[in-house]
Amino acid sequence: MARELDHRTSSRPRVAEQVAGSRLQLILSAACAYTILSILSRQGLQHHNGTVDIWLPCGLSDALALRVGLWAVPITLLGGLIDNLGHGGHHLGRAVIVAIGHGSSCALVAALAPRWMRGRDLFASLSNLFVFLGVLALAALASTVIASLVIPELRDWNQQGPALSWWAGNLTGSVVLAPPLLSWMGRNSQNQRRELLRTEYGLLLLACGLTALVVSADWIQVISLRPATLVMPLSLWAAYRFSPAAATPVTGLLALSLSWLPNPNDQRLLSANALQSQEVLALTVNVALITALTVLVINNSRVRTSRQLRQLAGSLERTVAERTDQLAAANARLQHLSDTDGLTGIANRRRFDGLLSERWRMAAASGTPLAVAMIDIDHFKAYNDTYGHPAGDRCLQQVAAALSEEIRQGSDCLARYGGEEFVVLWNGLDPKQAAAMAERLRACVLALALPHQSNGAAAVVTLSIGVAAQQVPRGSLRAPSDEIQHGIDALLKLADQRLYAAKSQGRNRVVST
Ligand code: GH3
Ligand code: MG
Ligand code: MG
Repeated sequence: MARELDHRTSSRPRVAEQVAGSRLQLILSAACAYTILSILSRQGLQHHNGTVDIWLPCGLSDALALRVGLWAVPITLLGGLIDNLGHGGHHLGRAVIVAIGHGSSCALVAALAPRWMRGRDLFASLSNLFVFLGVLALAALASTVIASLVIPELRDWNQQGPALSWWAGNLTGSVVLAPPLLSWMGRNSQNQRRELLRTEYGLLLLACGLTALVVSADWIQVISLRPATLVMPLSLWAAYRFSPAAATPVTGLLALSLSWLPNPNDQRLLSANALQSQEVLALTVNVALITALTVLVINNSRVRTSRQLRQLAGSLERTVAERTDQLAAANARLQHLSDTDGLTGIANRRRFDGLLSERWRMAAASGTPLAVAMIDIDHFKAYNDTYGHPAGDRCLQQVAAALSEEIRQGSDCLARYGGEEFVVLWNGLDPKQAAAMAERLRACVLALALPHQSNGAAAVVTLSIGVAAQQVPRGSLRAPSDEIQHGIDALLKLADQRLYAAKSQGRNRVVST
């Protein structure tokens, strides 16, 4: 008990420790990733004028800002500080201010994006996508303004000034990296991961190969932007076919790779002015990616809507099938109720009448004989008077059960005809066989030996039975239905007359002739 209490009181601090531990782990590993991305950006994407074409760390910090909120700020501050201090020649004051610039940009995304977006899913709707992009542009502006406190060149917002390149580099880094990171972080099922690997592996390999090729080809010194426009259809296709996880990095890297290659006519457009080329590059990449993302989100919502429609149609079909089954079961129950005698559980007169005309037609078709027996319990009124009505009910049930035992289920039929009267229908029995079967019925109830002291000499429950059997004429199948009914009535009437004959001859007997 003491140990249990101990365990309970110690579990809360342990959870807090774990959360704090995982936060610390997140901050350190993400700051590490931030630093690696900044090295990559500087190595592969830095321009002659010192600014970077695509500042990838922004993509990481903005994706984290949307995903984990303000926790992304210390990551960005730490990563920014390490990067700026590690980057030779920067004194501490400048490193701190630039890192604060990036941190504030990240804080803006964390504070504004979730507030203005509906949910945190970037790809859920076009409005979410454009809100996110707008916040990114604003945040990149904030980081540029703050960095300009210690980098005087960033106060120059001329069309070809470094401020615009810095802002565009930050924004492009986010547009290239944040969507695939968010898409990757949002994938939680094993299947989706497998799909990501299968479909996008090839494209990522291609992108890596091209990047390696371009980075290693240091003889390419010039910029030509024309081939960069080739990425537009590719990014559209990749976004439509796969996801931003494939479309954005592939497009970003290809755009960059292509923009570094000399164009086929060797015109080397814009190479004279590095800053202007940088702006055009940023514009190309951003336009390509934003178009691709827009197409992707529209396609996503189309796919989502058609999936919802399919699900709705499926559930509607399932509901209809369920209701149809329930209706069929209810109909079967209703049919059974309307065909069954409530007291004895055997067929009622309604069922018997229907079955008799059905069997009559079958007998007419096959030329086989049909036999009926009218069965009546002797002195049953007296039984009720002697033993009471409930006992009379039990007696009826016992008689019905005993008679059922003697009847072939399916081909023959036993029904309660009314009151203490039963009727049996036999298929294919001639008069002699039918008389013998009726005798068995009488004997089986006699064998029950149900006491009936008011039943004359027998002193037990007995039956009187009238039997009628006849060969149904083959031609009667084509006769009008009232003629058929006439034949059926005549058969029943004959059986009834013989029942009365059995009564008048002293009861407890079968009359069949
Ligand atoms: P008989 O030997 O001439 O057939 O005489 P009986 O008394 O059997 O014939 P009768 O037609 O005079 O009386 C039939 C009795 O059957 C009257 C009625 O009280 C009883 N009866 C009919 N249906 C039921 C029932 O569902 N339960 C009970 N307990 N009695 C019933
Ligand atoms: Mg009767
Ligand atoms: Mg009777």
